[in-house]
Amino acid sequence: MRPLAEAQLEVLSAMSPLPTMAVTLREAHGLVLAEDVVASHDIPPFPNSAMDGYAVRAADVADAPVELTVLEDVPAGNVPSRSVEPGTAIKIMTGAPMPDGADAVVKVEDTVPGDGIVGIERTAPVGTAVRPAGGDITSGSVVMKAGTRLDAAALGVLASVGAAHPVVRRRPTVAIMSTGDEVMPPETPSLGPGKIRDTNRPILRALLEELGAVVVDHGIVPDDADVLNRTLGHAARNADVVVTSGGVSMGEYDLIKQELSKLGTVEFWKVAMQPAKPFAFGDLGGTPLFGLPGNPVSVFVAFEQFLRPALLHMMGAEVLFRPRLTGVLDEPVRTDPAKTVFLRVALTVDDDGHYRVRRSGGQSSNVLSALAAADAFGVVPVGDGELPAGAPISLELFRAPETRTRAEALGG
Ligand code: AMP
Ligand code: MG
Repeated sequence: MRPLAEAQLEVLSAMSPLPTMAVTLREAHGLVLAEDVVASHDIPPFPNSAMDGYAVRAADVADAPVELTVLEDVPAGNVPSRSVEPGTAIKIMTGAPMPDGADAVVKVEDTVPGDGIVGIERTAPVGTAVRPAGGDITSGSVVMKAGTRLDAAALGVLASVGAAHPVVRRRPTVAIMSTGDEVMPPETPSLGPGKIRDTNRPILRALLEELGAVVVDHGIVPDDADVLNRTLGHAARNADVVVTSGGVSMGEYDLIKQELSKLGTVEFWKVAMQPAKPFAFGDLGGTPLFGLPGNPVSVFVAFEQFLRPALLHMMGAEVLFRPRLTGVLDEPVRTDPAKTVFLRVALTVDDDGHYRVRRSGGQSSNVLSALAAADAFGVVPVGDGELPAGAPISLELFRAPETRTRAEALGG
């Protein structure tokens, strides 16, 4: 058996980053920056007010309450035409530029309006409610590094500095197919004897789309050499990556092995992991091939451990793996000490804020209901066959646990 980390390294080293292109911010969502973005100006670009209120000289209001003469009114988007001289103030809205001479803003709640004057009720030391130029980002600095995956906040930062066409690596195109004579489309009204519904393509499509890939669905391929060969060849010519499920385990792989070897170089691995031990990896005329096992939980685990990091690497990401946290087992577990085992676990948060960990259901690789009920993998490394209740366990979160219902968050 091949150690998991060795298999992961081998997969990663076979993947090349995709070409770069400039895209709109809308298209950039979920993609990865390929070049550093440097700020061409300060953010904020000019000193401005953080509040609706009155721009004043801090020294004038040191003995508040005081009355000041109001010179003008500056809404956001306008520019003051006067400077604040001793004994005066300028009415200012949030985001409007600070007038010359002013060094603080008194918020409107702390003032009493009059006719051409304003009563200032509170002191405001220098800098109060003023956002200085460059307080967020300074001109010339790297605002975002190559390798950053562009999420909502990152897109906002790029917009703020006018980087409206960031250079990213393009979206990977991933061909998927299910194999097996027993596998029928999910919409099949009633299953014939020996048949099951295809769960793997819906799982793979969802996982791939969450990652930002474009999915090309080649459907269900029967256990037939010619159809398999044609479909694999077509898929490899038209995608960046080909993903199959089924037909890679011991008793089964002759057919897929034979057809893959006609089209490229593919190795059949036994990885020291559970589930997803059988795994085929190789290259079909320059296109990487991932041959995942048929059982749906194995598909999910193999996706998480091999495909997700591989695709993120192709997309140019710096961070390839999910975070690992530590939880506390609520029950003893016993696993194969020769393998890295990915238990499907559900998490609850105890009164001390610790994650309590329980298996979310049956742990066989066909038991999808337990995967759907899981928040994380409880990762038991090679060598750790038996863990008692109360033992710490490493967690790989693939979903935020839904521990905060409306009542828990808001009371009542
Ligand atoms: P295989 O790797 O082809 O030997 O398949 C292993 C197990 O996974 C068998 O029980 C198959 O029936 C099942 N299986 C294979 N493909 C799928 C699929 N697309 N959806 C659901 N189960 C599948
Ligand atoms: Mg099969």
